[in-house]
Amino acid sequence: SVPAAVAAGLSSGARHGLLMKGGAVMETAAKTTLVAFDKTGTLTEGRPQITDIVPLHGDAATLLATAAAVETGSNHPLAQAILSRAEAEGAAVPQATQAAAIPGRGARAEIAGETCSVGAPRLAAEAGVLGEADRATAEALERAGKTVVTVFTADRLLGLIAMRDEPRADAAEAVAALKRMGINSVMLTGDNPATARAIADSLGIEARAGLLPEDKVAALRDLAGEAHVMMVGDGINDAPALATAHLGIAMGSGTHVALEAADGALLRDRVMDVAGQIRLARATMANIR
Ligand code: ADP
Ligand code: MG
Repeated sequence: SVPAAVAAGLSSGARHGLLMKGGAVMETAAKTTLVAFDKTGTLTEGRPQITDIVPLHGDAATLLATAAAVETGSNHPLAQAILSRAEAEGAAVPQATQAAAIPGRGARAEIAGETCSVGAPRLAAEAGVLGEADRATAEALERAGKTVVTVFTADRLLGLIAMRDEPRADAAEAVAALKRMGINSVMLTGDNPATARAIADSLGIEARAGLLPEDKVAALRDLAGEAHVMMVGDGINDAPALATAHLGIAMGSGTHVALEAADGALLRDRVMDVAGQIRLARATMANIR
């Protein structure tokens, strides 16, 4: 019967960490014609490593310690990179209060009575503290495939920190496997266009960069007009995007928020499982027809 075939498909998937929240999700997954991937933590390892610390006032250790204090309010992979480097160096992290993430942009906190922020160069530019020379420094690092964050107060840029996040080992292979199944892939990212291009080219995927969380939602609405879209994200800032696609799948350990907002999850950190999940859904739906 129909329910038996679907139940068998769901449980077979679950045994391999491919979770789908019910038969309707299975049916929709089988129709996927386009997969929209989040970049950080989904197509990439999500474990960026600091490559450059560029202080403009004071020394590198102080810049790192200040950034770490601000990032205590964020669970973003870039925040983790800064916090673990500070810990590894035994940095004297100052006390921060009201530390909070700014989704898709950065984080902010109060340190010694001053508001301090860490975020994309765009955030510093909006705050009016990114000069021409500093912008040029940031862009040179970005062209080298690095993600650059700025550290600044209300009236000055304290410095830049550059990080590199490697693509997952099976990401290019997964994009190719989907292509063979007749499924296109696109990378949606809040990262800057230069860094995004470097990674997208290495994976053979199209990229839409510089997207704020609300821009990702708009991009998905746009894509969903022409294709049956599965969105795959790690869930950090992705909940609205996951909810907008025809199907939202959380990948990896993910966050509770993402699992709640998603229609399914891939519990192993493998991009190839996206193709596996669609293959399973197709086979299951073929069985009941
Ligand atoms: P992605 O789409 O790659 O997952 P996000 O939307 O999570 O990226 O973030 C977009 C950009 O915002 C990052 O590349 C970074 O410049 C900035 N950003 C977001 N969160 C933080 C943070 N906690 N610290 C510093 N920068 C951040
Ligand atoms: Mg993300």
